[in-house]
Amino acid sequence: MCTIRIGGRAKNVYFPSSQDEIRWLLIESLEKDKRFFPLGIGSNTVFSDGVIDLFFVSTRYLKRFNIKQKGKNYYIEAESGVSFKTITDIVKKLNLEGFEHLSGIPATVGGATVMNAGAYGTEISDIIEEVYWFNKEGNLRILKRDQINFSYRKSPFQKEGFVYKVVLKLSSSKKDIKSIIKKHLEERNKKQPLNYPTAGSTFKNPPKYPAGYLLEKVGLKGYKIGNVAFSEKHANFLINLGGGKFKELKKLIEIAERRVGEMYHIKLEKEIQIVE
Ligand SMILES: Cc1cc2nc3c(=O)[nH]c(=O)nc-3n(C[C@H](O)[C@H](O)[C@H](O)COP(=O)(O)OP(=O)(O)OC[C@H]3O[C@@H](n4cnc5c(N)ncnc54)[C@H](O)[C@@H]3O)c2cc1C
Repeated sequence: MCTIRIGGRAKNVYFPSSQDEIRWLLIESLEKDKRFFPLGIGSNTVFSDGVIDLFFVSTRYLKRFNIKQKGKNYYIEAESGVSFKTITDIVKKLNLEGFEHLSGIPATVGGATVMNAGAYGTEISDIIEEVYWFNKEGNLRILKRDQINFSYRKSPFQKEGFVYKVVLKLSSSKKDIKSIIKKHLEERNKKQPLNYPTAGSTFKNPPKYPAGYLLEKVGLKGYKIGNVAFSEKHANFLINLGGGKFKELKKLIEIAERRVGEMYHIKLEKEIQIVE
């Protein structure tokens, strides 16, 4: 259930398809005192080996969406399991502006909102109008954009609860949105190791230098332990060379944190979500 394909087995995974089921699962996890862990496509998540006994809740069956038009603006109301691929198809078809720079991110709408995913100067928070969020007690809150404190790869939803639905505000464009998207996809193909299982950026970019640059400078580009490596193509991407183990990935992260700390006095902050 994660794109880097490392980790053991989940004892239980739940697949809600309605608000009632989400509410029930939140209450159940609270009563059973088990950590509630929502999951999109796991493109920013890594699991430890062995059996993991958490309350995993997948958004796989929350894929409904609708589109409303008000003048020049379009509002896409998407459940959290709707993929960026689906949103990309919509914006290409209707030539909508606002989402184009995010189009190549392998994500669900829910996972991207929680991570405040971004690329090429746009973050999803730039186009969010409203978030429908269940708190840990199972109560639904509808939050307007200005009530939500987003920052670089951070949102308040990382702490608890469940993002059920997100309203994105886009507008019809005079630009050729299809060709902008095509250009971004080509760039991603060139720069990212998309032929290997990966979880995207391992570390957030510190203020002064990109994490990939720092990892390269401390000699970790292409560095491998067992079957996990920092990619030759993009040093901040960990890749699974086949049968990679969690302890190999963890060791690589520790080495990177230590080397960058010693040589640059910079404390790297993980972007990937590690579940142990
Ligand atoms: C090849 C590649 C390229 C990437 N490029 C980028 C990029 O350009 N920019 C970028 O920002 N990221 C990038 N990423 C990282 C990743 O795609 C994003 O963080 C994405 O938003 C994660 O979406 P997901 O649905 O897979 O979330 P998951 O990995 O499934 O979950 C991420 C976090 O969100 C939580 N979560 C998921 N859904 C919900 C929900 N409904 N309610 C509450 N919590 C939830 C999870 O518990 C977890 O903590 C890339 C990853 C890969 C593999």
